[in-house]
Amino acid sequence: MSIISTDISKAVAILNAEELVAIPTETVYGLAGNIFSEKAIKRIFETKKRPFFNPLIVHIPSIELLPTIVSYIPEKAQRLADAFWPGPLTLVLPKQSSIPELITAGKDTVAVRIPNHSTTLDLLNQLDFPLAAPSANPFGNISPTTAQHVENYFKDAIKMVLDGGPCQRGIESTIIGFEGVEPIIYRLGSTSIEAIESIVGPIQIKNKKEIAPDAPGMLDRHYAPKTRTILVDNISDAIEKYTDKRIGVLAFSKPSEHNAIVFQIVLSELTDLQEAASKLYDALHQLDKQELDIIIAERFPDKGLGKSINDRLQRATVRA
Ligand code: AMP
Ligand code: MG
Repeated sequence: MSIISTDISKAVAILNAEELVAIPTETVYGLAGNIFSEKAIKRIFETKKRPFFNPLIVHIPSIELLPTIVSYIPEKAQRLADAFWPGPLTLVLPKQSSIPELITAGKDTVAVRIPNHSTTLDLLNQLDFPLAAPSANPFGNISPTTAQHVENYFKDAIKMVLDGGPCQRGIESTIIGFEGVEPIIYRLGSTSIEAIESIVGPIQIKNKKEIAPDAPGMLDRHYAPKTRTILVDNISDAIEKYTDKRIGVLAFSKPSEHNAIVFQIVLSELTDLQEAASKLYDALHQLDKQELDIIIAERFPDKGLGKSINDRLQRATVRA
């Protein structure tokens, strides 16, 4: 029997019993549990095979709850929260002492956001605790953007996937930490740098593992298909090097023609970066199922969400 359901009260009951429910958000589906339940949180790490040194994001339903999670809110953090919440922006701030170290991987900071999905906001409002919800995929794999992706990964290892339809944004949240009162981008994501800079001015990016080796979104290999994947500027030139292989192509807006292409996905014929982002992971899931020798992915324009898409494609190309 399928674990996919739209029954919010059932999700409430399961979460109150310290078990896990996969939940929809505007970014990707999350594997959610009560942040105060050691049993639930340990189960998240076990189910995902996620190393314990990787901290989790706390999801809350309203900005009034922020002071119950973090002990200090710099002025620029407040402005970002006011501008983008609910939405795909995560703030990393000093934690309240009540936030368990299992959530923060022993750090004295905690990551928090308000997701922009009506089903999950409904759910959070019916719970008397926030939810930790890392992406609902085995560690390092492609993130799920439909309820079916989650079921394919976990089958009956979890009790329920709360179905909220396909994720509208399709790439993880942008993560912003602080050095003192100044914001810094730790992970590129669904909120573009340009949008962030329009609120707080020029911002530095430090999403390299030398700076934060312990943050999984920053690992070189992440979000990765099992099929060998390469990222190129020119698809036609790349195809010429692999004409004896079964090739899959992931293109931004224009299809390529060649006999060696056995499967091809064009992400946005209208060159709409948000449309491309929302379809990206489903495309990787589909390409990975075709028994290809190689996936050739086209590099995106280096602006707006194109930067975040390139970041994910880059990490998808690193071999285990
Ligand atoms: P996921 O929920 O799977 O998208 O991953 C959560 C991400 O949040 C991790 O990859 C970290 O990069 C980031 N994160 C969570 N908590 C912290 C923290 N206290 N400090 C820095 N980064 C964090
Ligand atoms: Mg993840």
